[in-house]
Amino acid sequence: MAPGSIIQELVSEQNTRSPTKTKSNLSFILNKPYDVQFAERPIPKISGTHDVLVAVNYTGICGSDVHYWEHGRIGHFVVEEPMVLGHESAGTVVDVGSAVRELAPGDRVALEPGYPCRRCIDCLAGRYNLCPDMVFAATPPHDGTLTGFWVAPSDFCYKLPTNVTLQEGALIEPLAVAVHIVQQARVRPGATVVVMGAGPIGLLCAAVAKSFGAVKVVSVDIVQSKLDLATELAATHTYCFQRNSAEENANALLAQCNLGKGADVVIDASGVEACIQTGLHVVKMGGTYVQGGMGKADITFPIMALCQKEVTVRGSFRYGPGDYQLAIELVANGAVNVKKLITGVFDFTQAEDAFKKVKEGQVIKILISGPNEHINGSLNAGIGENIRPTLDRVSEIEDG
Ligand SMILES: [Zn+2]
Ligand SMILES: [Zn+2]
Repeated sequence: MAPGSIIQELVSEQNTRSPTKTKSNLSFILNKPYDVQFAERPIPKISGTHDVLVAVNYTGICGSDVHYWEHGRIGHFVVEEPMVLGHESAGTVVDVGSAVRELAPGDRVALEPGYPCRRCIDCLAGRYNLCPDMVFAATPPHDGTLTGFWVAPSDFCYKLPTNVTLQEGALIEPLAVAVHIVQQARVRPGATVVVMGAGPIGLLCAAVAKSFGAVKVVSVDIVQSKLDLATELAATHTYCFQRNSAEENANALLAQCNLGKGADVVIDASGVEACIQTGLHVVKMGGTYVQGGMGKADITFPIMALCQKEVTVRGSFRYGPGDYQLAIELVANGAVNVKKLITGVFDFTQAEDAFKKVKEGQVIKILISGPNEHINGSLNAGIGENIRPTLDRVSEIEDG
């Protein structure tokens, strides 16, 4: 099929079949806190020979998207101009640049939403997540992926195996975050791992740690239903966080989970001060602690425990080389069941309601379908995207 033919087909199909639906490139835009709008943006064009044009099928809502929606800023990143939200997306290739060999129109891909400069010392050292010139979706001033079409370098579009759905594809981004955290923690076969927080990233860290060979994986949260989900997904033990001191929580956790003098690895995916403090008391002598969660910028920290136990402490930020590939592999081979995290799917036109739902809590991961969700259906009939969004505002996903 000649490049470009699919997009023409799509546009004409949209015009004839669903005149009330998105005409071209409907986008969900944040103007300022709690002020959003839907607007048509020009369809982006392939400018480089290695570029790929992708129709976005599904986008997961992330805590950071909700934070921008509520506050208009995260740290130094401030929304000053209207910005398209969203960065956890999967879509269908509709056109490719002349140098692209590994992708073709019709391929289903997970989108890695940040592009580094490829030239700086961090990029060249294989730490492109630390690139100072990173262009990252839905991080001001850059637009995000809650839009009709998205142009990306082909090596930041990862082809999904046939047994991975586009909805699962939208979960690859948070799974890649978890893969990076667990890599930073150097989890080895036989390790004992405690994960603070059972939100999407904490749950996925538990699952990745298990797939890396951890024999004991303890999920910690204050919400019992999240701990139940952690058990379903990967956790061998759970601990419901109490309103006690950090040391009391640590002692109770170690006793309840038979962790003896401490866990080999503690991962914080909560960003909560009390959990971070507890984590430093839970990690064993000579163990490893990784900070994945982001909460308050400054907290008090049991630095004496850190020193006396000679703990190795690492940060973790986004994802780097190989993390997306491994995340897809873990879903494809059944090691991580990301479907269990999907609480519901909202239609694109209900995006604002979806954000409200995430803010209320009680959900793990909400996906927004479209605005070009139908593109896959028309192009890849038979591939088996079995879970289609319904007209209901939220369609519950059944476990297969
Ligand atoms: Zn995210
Ligand atoms: Zn760079």
